[in-house]
Amino acid sequence: MAERWEGANAPVSRLPSPVSRVNLFGMDRERLRARFAEIGEKPWRADQIMQWIYRRGVDDFGAMSNLAKDLRMRLEASCRVAPPELLGEQKSVDGTRKWVLKVGGGQAIETVFIPDKERGTLCISSQVGCAMDCSFCSTGQQGLNRNLDTAEIVAQVWFAAKALGGNFQTERVISNVVFMGMGEPLANYGAVLPAVKILQDDFGFGLSKRRVTVSTSGLVPFMDRLRQDVDTALAVSLHAPDDALRDELVPINRKYPVAELMDACRRYTAGRDHKMHIVYEYVMLDGVNDSPALARDLARLLNGMPAKVNLIPFNPFPETRYRRSKPEAIDAFAGILRGKNILATTRRTRGDDIDAACGQLVGKVHNKQKRRLSDIPVRAA
Ligand code: SAH
Ligand code: SF4
Repeated sequence: MAERWEGANAPVSRLPSPVSRVNLFGMDRERLRARFAEIGEKPWRADQIMQWIYRRGVDDFGAMSNLAKDLRMRLEASCRVAPPELLGEQKSVDGTRKWVLKVGGGQAIETVFIPDKERGTLCISSQVGCAMDCSFCSTGQQGLNRNLDTAEIVAQVWFAAKALGGNFQTERVISNVVFMGMGEPLANYGAVLPAVKILQDDFGFGLSKRRVTVSTSGLVPFMDRLRQDVDTALAVSLHAPDDALRDELVPINRKYPVAELMDACRRYTAGRDHKMHIVYEYVMLDGVNDSPALARDLARLLNGMPAKVNLIPFNPFPETRYRRSKPEAIDAFAGILRGKNILATTRRTRGDDIDAACGQLVGKVHNKQKRRLSDIPVRAA
């Protein structure tokens, strides 16, 4: 799509249609400043606009009162601040909220808000579906339809902040954002990186680097790029301590086996402040990966690394062959890890009455040609 900024002086009949106007949710500060410079505006105007959008929740250029009228008109003619359309909403008995949002091309994605005592976590999607094909994940079972663009990723946060009704400036209802909704964020790196920057930017959502978590199934080359490009928290979906089992659960392991993945994790945390640890996610599947022997193997694998293990009781979905581990097995697994001085927590299952729990997000993938891992080149050039 052509991004056009001219046109404020064009006759109305020649103004770009709403969809051809640039959606500013897709531009991080660097890009927005560059654009402003190009059209002869002071780059710091970009900062002001970002503050209106993200700090005050304003989507109407006409209300941006510290901008000259002429600039507001030019913006109206060539840009938009367009949140996604709401298709459906559900609220769990535990306060978890799920929104089904319409994105371009007749697709839908899911965004989930999980309130807790001292934080509010928003779980956002990065793709429509996912190509990684993890055997225990319902998003994976539907294959990939397409990548979301940066605007579609960022707009989920803006939409949720609005829907939750807090005051953008004084009250931060969303304190954490995790890329744990639909999709593999590092398989959509080009769109995810600017989104992470907007989430962390002081003129954007202003979240600290520890409060924005990218979760990956282990796309090693992009873990290295992320390390170079931005400072943000990382979660790695490990699920098994050895290649035989991980190959079966997380097929990307066949490309980037456990040893390579752990090396990438070491590179990710090397030279960073001592509080920086990676969270290793480990879905608990009854009789598959939850034995005491595997807990000991996992402890050995993570020995000496800045790590925290998050055990996720499996969330079932129709036609899955897996069952959730028994609570005693989860406790015993966590106990073994702790006994080896590895921090381990068990994720409380939230929102399962509205199918909003991890791995249950399916949105609506309208497509006839689902793409899967084997069709997609995942090695960075
Ligand atoms: N694709 C990324 C992020 C989205 S999935 C990743 O895999 O890390 C977010 C988390 O939910 C991952 O740890 C994933 O393994 C986990 N998950 C997927 N399906 C699940 C299920 N059915 N039950 C519990 N956790 C699941
Ligand atoms: Fe994709 Fe993550 Fe699901 Fe695996 S667990 S299929 S990487 S969304």
